[in-house]
Amino acid sequence: MMTENTVNDLLVQVKNLKMYFPVPGDNPFRNDYLRAVDDVTLDIYKGEVLGLVGESGCGKSTLGNTILHLLKPTAGTVEFEGQDLSTLSAGDMKSMRRKIQMIFQDPSASLNPRRTIGNALLEPFRIHKIGTPKEREDRINFLINRVGLSEYHLSRYPHELSGGQKQRVSIARALTLNPEIIVCDEAVSALDVSIQAQVIDLLEDLQKDFNLTYLFISHDLSVVYYISDRVAVMYLGKVIELGSKDSVFERTLHPYSKALISAIPKVDPDQVRERIILQGDLPSPVKPPSGCRFHVRCNQCMEICKEETPEFKEYETGHFVACHLYENR
Ligand code: SF4
Repeated sequence: MMTENTVNDLLVQVKNLKMYFPVPGDNPFRNDYLRAVDDVTLDIYKGEVLGLVGESGCGKSTLGNTILHLLKPTAGTVEFEGQDLSTLSAGDMKSMRRKIQMIFQDPSASLNPRRTIGNALLEPFRIHKIGTPKEREDRINFLINRVGLSEYHLSRYPHELSGGQKQRVSIARALTLNPEIIVCDEAVSALDVSIQAQVIDLLEDLQKDFNLTYLFISHDLSVVYYISDRVAVMYLGKVIELGSKDSVFERTLHPYSKALISAIPKVDPDQVRERIILQGDLPSPVKPPSGCRFHVRCNQCMEICKEETPEFKEYETGHFVACHLYENR
């Protein structure tokens, strides 16, 4: 886990990133745009776990995919170790992909049902033409044991494994080529609670052992609190609060983050929080509300909030927020 970030630790720099999808609009001659990611700027530092939270549909998975350039951004840049990913040739991008891996929510969907686990783990080596047969075998044997399975599982098919075991295989596969960063997209959300805890502990151990960096995307704030060093809160395509885990959870600024955090159950009955119930549903990202996008649900909305978009500003060292309540301070 990280304690302090420096410019030298910078691994990924996301600047003004936008990902819009054309959708049929009211005007039959012109598309509307679903603004899934709308002007996101953030940094990810080497060796940290950056948690990304928000309601489903807020754009967090799209942000993860756009950072990986699995989706071509509409605008903005993603720099990995100082290199703008959009400027890389197809060959260089393929090499870069070895350093950037992903773990998805549904391990069944990411494993071919007709291939054994051993074959699934060999795939990255084949794609990138890396390693002798002996090196591949040694690495796969090491990893299958490191994620808590055994060589026995290499000859099994996905349907013969439990959900937790399949997710362990996905983790092993993400690790085969020694990545720098892993985007974990709701990586434990589909698992039973007891299995979730085991997989989170495994991810945490691997992060320390291999000095990995995680972008940990989840709608579950308790999980994000447990594993993250810093936390970014996303609402309707925008990051609206970002800071260290303690600053975001203990000195929460944005009314939306406060509402999300108020819903986390406390174990200690003397520390029960007052629950803030969010009004209404997440508005459409095709026609987001004017001004502050949260204003139609905010219990502290002011006149200015309906007209002017608040800037994403540093309120205290390393703690950023986009809210008119904290301007001019
Ligand atoms: Fe609420 Fe206004 Fe802050 Fe938006 S800018 S979160 S509407 S107080």
